[in-house]
Amino acid sequence: MQLTGKTTVVGIFGDPVEHSLSPRMQNAAIKSSGLDAVYVPFHVTPTQLCDAVAAIRAMSLRGVNLTIPHKEAACHLVDEMDKQAVLMGAINTIVNENGCLKGYNTDGIGLLNALKQELGVDVAGKRVLLLGAGGACRAALVALCQAQVSWIGIANRTRERAQQLIEKVSPSFSGTAFAEYELSSSLANVCPKPVDLLINTTAVGLKGDAFGLPVIDCVKTGGAVFDMVYTAESTVLLDEARMRGLEVADGLGMLSAQGEAAFQLWFGCAPEASVMRRALDKID
Ligand code: NAP
Repeated sequence: MQLTGKTTVVGIFGDPVEHSLSPRMQNAAIKSSGLDAVYVPFHVTPTQLCDAVAAIRAMSLRGVNLTIPHKEAACHLVDEMDKQAVLMGAINTIVNENGCLKGYNTDGIGLLNALKQELGVDVAGKRVLLLGAGGACRAALVALCQAQVSWIGIANRTRERAQQLIEKVSPSFSGTAFAEYELSSSLANVCPKPVDLLINTTAVGLKGDAFGLPVIDCVKTGGAVFDMVYTAESTVLLDEARMRGLEVADGLGMLSAQGEAAFQLWFGCAPEASVMRRALDKID
């Protein structure tokens, strides 16, 4: 890679950022596309975020990704927000258009594309149960509603958070029915009908941990389970789903698909198909 004064610079702001897999997959895509560009990880703490976003303009970066804990705070620092990102209440991508910073959230399209590519699932008309009610859940909720799911349940450890999420998002989507639950051992009994798709949007499973609840009982025979968590090993949730004969996928497909959407926003072209996914194949 030959860096010059003309090289386009993009990157990621996070705290921590060392663990991020985005530099690996974005630089692989930049290389295969033959672009004169580079993707750099920047360690930015919450108190530095305002200065760091201003530096995107000052240093003419083409844009950045945002990861934990900046996705919500950055919404207040950009000049414009994409409509979908407003509903999601968070951005994971900033594009610098001649000093005007526009915020996008590509997690939702990343999820939908991963569901299609990894599970062959088109969610229109489907019943979907989301576990969790944090930022990742909200992005998933908006994207799934826009893709016209017929029913969405949200089961969260703190039930009020699920309720608040539905109150914020449901007025924009009259075609979808919503329900909220406490994430408990009786979930399969209170959930009215088995679902087509279960999605884990919590970090449970990241450290080999498990829900310890029969959440798989909520999924119908022939249904699918998607886990946003990505680890070198499979998660307990996906192992249980496989044992029931359900289709499964982990979060790597979503990670690469949200990255592909960000790449398209910065460079105006799609990266070579699956180059980002392949770059993630051997995570440590
Ligand atoms: P967040 O805003 O902190 O939300 C965390 C959610 O997990 C909350 O609903 C919380 O419940 C729940 N939770 C935490 N510990 C739990 C436990 N032990 N048992 C049951 N529920 C628990 O986090 P986030 O930003 O939404 O991210 C969640 C996960 O999604 C992370 O692992 C992140 O890496 C992953 N993610 C993956 C991708 C991808 O591309 N694959 C993209 C985005 C996010 P309470 O409300 O009760 O606290």
